[in-house]
Amino acid sequence: MLAVTTVPDIESVGIVGGSLGGLFQAVALAELGLDVTVWERSAGRPDDRGAGIVLQPSVAWFLRMFCGVDPDRISVPVTHRQFFSLDGKSHHTLMRQRMISWGAIYTSLRDRLDPARYHEGAQVTALVPRPEGVDVQVGGAVRSVDLAIIADGSASRHRRLVAPEGAPRYAGYVAYRGVIDEADLSQELSEVFRDRFSFYDGDRTQFLSYFIPGDLGTTAPGRRRMNWVWYVRADAAGLERITTDRNGTVHGLSLPPGLIAPQVHAELLDRARALLPGPMRELVEHTREPFAQAILDGHVSRMRAGRMLLTGDAAFVVRPHTAASVEKAAADAIALFTALLQVPSLDGALRAWEKNRLAEGTALHRHGIGLGDRLGLSSSEATQAAAAGPAA
Ligand SMILES: Cc1cc2nc3c(=O)[nH]c(=O)nc-3n(C[C@H](O)[C@H](O)[C@H](O)COP(=O)(O)OP(=O)(O)OC[C@H]3O[C@@H](n4cnc5c(N)ncnc54)[C@H](O)[C@@H]3O)c2cc1C
Repeated sequence: MLAVTTVPDIESVGIVGGSLGGLFQAVALAELGLDVTVWERSAGRPDDRGAGIVLQPSVAWFLRMFCGVDPDRISVPVTHRQFFSLDGKSHHTLMRQRMISWGAIYTSLRDRLDPARYHEGAQVTALVPRPEGVDVQVGGAVRSVDLAIIADGSASRHRRLVAPEGAPRYAGYVAYRGVIDEADLSQELSEVFRDRFSFYDGDRTQFLSYFIPGDLGTTAPGRRRMNWVWYVRADAAGLERITTDRNGTVHGLSLPPGLIAPQVHAELLDRARALLPGPMRELVEHTREPFAQAILDGHVSRMRAGRMLLTGDAAFVVRPHTAASVEKAAADAIALFTALLQVPSLDGALRAWEKNRLAEGTALHRHGIGLGDRLGLSSSEATQAAAAGPAA
């Protein structure tokens, strides 16, 4: 692990949001010897929805160097990409990757961070910039910090202080998702997906699946989970229908597990029977609690205003085809750590950081839209809006 102790001009850092984006920053900056405080509005452990993540290099490096965790111990290897046709036949190509779960990354970061630095059930209601810092309002209290990092996600309330133009837009399709305990799959079905990152590209739709670690990061065959994602086009009315739960509550941009409306679930199953190759249809049928997320495009032209920085999904929301959202959040933190360490002045370090992160975020954002367009998934409005740049 790294051991470093000096940074010019700042001692305290306040982080708004304690999900992966905020935690990457907190762990890295605490490693620099800074007095780090994280405020997370949710109480208790966030719901990870068992989501699977492709393990990319910055995340693996971060886990190894900052958390002292061997990423190979908490991830599942795949050796091949496997491509299905509708009749269930498949071919494959060699492509080694590792798959991890959101929860395994979150746990590694929380275990590394001093619990006294992480405040749950603490909503930041205002950030007030000062010449040499920021006043952070949490409930009735105000805490002054030298640097504030805004990591409050794609629906960021505080983004407007840095990049008022950056609110994300709906891209015209949703990701239905499902997670199944491997023990609940037949051996035959499990065998079809073993060591494979599996894809089916249909008419303006894509389905993909892979194994991820089970509870507590277990990676032993038989105790893993199968993770699937199915991209389906939906106009605004369709999105509202999908994200309206069984009790009539409209969630808007996502539908949590366990709440899918019976009619929407029935339609999902019908669609799977009509449109998916046999093994993938079976995965949908085996899933007790499918959930859904709207796909968004979010793009900013600034990531810094004085002593306030944007990170993670509060800055760029990139399409999931890039498999880079978590990777980007880790890279934001590694880049800030490196800039503070290497650039002698604080202003110079923050400028260098912003330049680097804007360039990468912009490139990823465009790449993701290109991938979505190639799959025929984006609405024409989303493609035009993306070409026009950030929202006004
Ligand atoms: C269900 C789900 C599945 C995903 N699957 C994948 C995937 O497969 N692959 C991938 O690469 N990425 C995936 N992502 C995206 C990925 O998790 C994020 O891109 C990445 O973790 C960075 O997120 P973030 O921390 O910036 O934002 P978020 O994860 O949205 O976290 C923002 C946090 O800020 C907190 N917050 C908001 N407002 C305030 C406030 N005022 N005060 C205090 N706290 C506040 C929120 O409670 C939340 O915990 C998924 C995200 C979700 C939600």
